[in-house]
Amino acid sequence: MTTLPEWTWEFHGHRCPFMPIGYRMGELMLKTLGVSKAHDHEYFIASELGVGHPQTCLMDGLQASTGCTYGKLMMERLNFGKLAATLWTPDNGSVRVAIKPAFSDKLGKYEFFSYRKKGIEPSQIPEPVSNEVISVVLNATDEEMFDVKKLSDFEHKKIKGSFNKTKCEGCGEYVFDRYARIKDGKHLCIPCAGY
Ligand SMILES: [Zn+2]
Ligand SMILES: [Zn+2]
Repeated sequence: MTTLPEWTWEFHGHRCPFMPIGYRMGELMLKTLGVSKAHDHEYFIASELGVGHPQTCLMDGLQASTGCTYGKLMMERLNFGKLAATLWTPDNGSVRVAIKPAFSDKLGKYEFFSYRKKGIEPSQIPEPVSNEVISVVLNATDEEMFDVKKLSDFEHKKIKGSFNKTKCEGCGEYVFDRYARIKDGKHLCIPCAGY
């Protein structure tokens, strides 16, 4: 059985099955490529999830186990509306992990989802109901949950970081050069330039 560090639940905010699925997905990605959790900007995750479906919780779990955080721009969403993600590493290749449709179907039968379909948020669902479906996730084998495929042709180009900034001549706030605009000879931020 997998156990998640308590901080991951606190970070996520409620108890649901998808955060731990994402956590396990990330652990499996690291294990498959033989790398450990990121500390800086080592890797990149392309998540295939979209908006408007509840499984997006899994991206919090993915961030927690891989260290590929949104804030550090180590994860992007492709908006395919699919339950899969690819971890890219510079030296150890890439791996795509997807949730098996049969496992999705199995989870969908638990009472947790009848609450969700009525629009009840996870924190309002009785704890035994949440714990039941969470324990299915924590006790499943990787083989039961995931399809794993190493990719040899997945490309990711790192954006070169820069500290250069300009003071906007409109609002006086700093704007990083990549985003500065010139209008009527003035250096402006996007809101002040209007484009
Ligand atoms: Zn959740
Ligand atoms: Zn401005």
